[in-house]
Amino acid sequence: LTRASVAITVAAGLTLSGACGGDGEGGGDSLSVGVLLPGGGASRFGQFDRPLIEQKLKQLCPRCPAATVAATPEPAVQRQQLEAMITRGVDVLILAVVDAKGLRSTVEAAHRAGIPVVAYDRLAQGPISGYVTFDGATVGRLQGEGLLKAMGTKANGGQIVMMNGATTDPNADWYKQGALSVLRDNVKIGKSYDTVGWRPENAYVNMTGAIAALGADNIDGVLAANDSLAGAVVSAFNAAEVRPLPPVTGQDADLAAVRRIVRGDQYMTVYKPFKPAADAAVEMAVALGRGETVASIAPGTVDSPTTKNIPAVLLPSVSVTISNIKDTLVKDGMYTINQICTAK
Ligand code: BGC
Repeated sequence: LTRASVAITVAAGLTLSGACGGDGEGGGDSLSVGVLLPGGGASRFGQFDRPLIEQKLKQLCPRCPAATVAATPEPAVQRQQLEAMITRGVDVLILAVVDAKGLRSTVEAAHRAGIPVVAYDRLAQGPISGYVTFDGATVGRLQGEGLLKAMGTKANGGQIVMMNGATTDPNADWYKQGALSVLRDNVKIGKSYDTVGWRPENAYVNMTGAIAALGADNIDGVLAANDSLAGAVVSAFNAAEVRPLPPVTGQDADLAAVRRIVRGDQYMTVYKPFKPAADAAVEMAVALGRGETVASIAPGTVDSPTTKNIPAVLLPSVSVTISNIKDTLVKDGMYTINQICTAK
């Protein structure tokens, strides 16, 4: 696997603390916001979400600079980070879980300590006060529809491989069910894998196995749940010298994936504008930290396996193919044409 550097997982935890408000209502209050983010084979959390969360916090709370930054992709380490935040007595937490079930008892401990938790992107188990994410069923449906479109005549009765995310992340099943809702009546699912830790090296091994078991000629498309898995899938096809590549989906609009789309090595990705998510999570956290409710920020509710009626923000996402890169990613300032077109 030559993509070793891509395979390094990124995770981040940071604490932003300081005096909030100072004038107007909420005046003079001081607020510390603990932020815990996973990596799991994708760079979006460290690369996009973290700086966006920091920026929004600075804006809502100018004297709240980032105090500490730590990083881990490991469930056990995230648990320790969370325990440390509870011990130091942060006022509120923004948490994107590595392992929703595994962290439940620690989320309960935060609740007992009177620290509200805003679940970010991934639905944490245990008593949480709010949730911000992208509608996962939509993400999966866009991937499924994109794949069928790219498969042409094979969209009727062809065979695909599903490369799903990690079972520790509830989003993975949400995406999978969304995709299956459009795929199951049209194509044969030759193989379906859950990818431990969302790690591309695991997807590479699984895709290599699928090519050997099914034969490359019998794979008409691959539903890859995100762009780092898509990269591993493409690498596995390249290593097996498969030409032409069958269509492959993705998610997150990673720069490497956008470049693959331009080269014709990946059919589509799902663009999730991260800024509205980061903004809503910070707004919720600041409101909760000040003892206010999040009702005005969260228009909907969701249920988790442990908790009903969690106030939630579910954001829309957009399918990106070669035909609308300019009108979406470039227009929104995520990447410049130069960045995309610089050969790597
Ligand atoms: C996120 C995706 C990300 C994946 C791997 C999911 O929970 O929603 O955007 O690609 O985790 O980090």
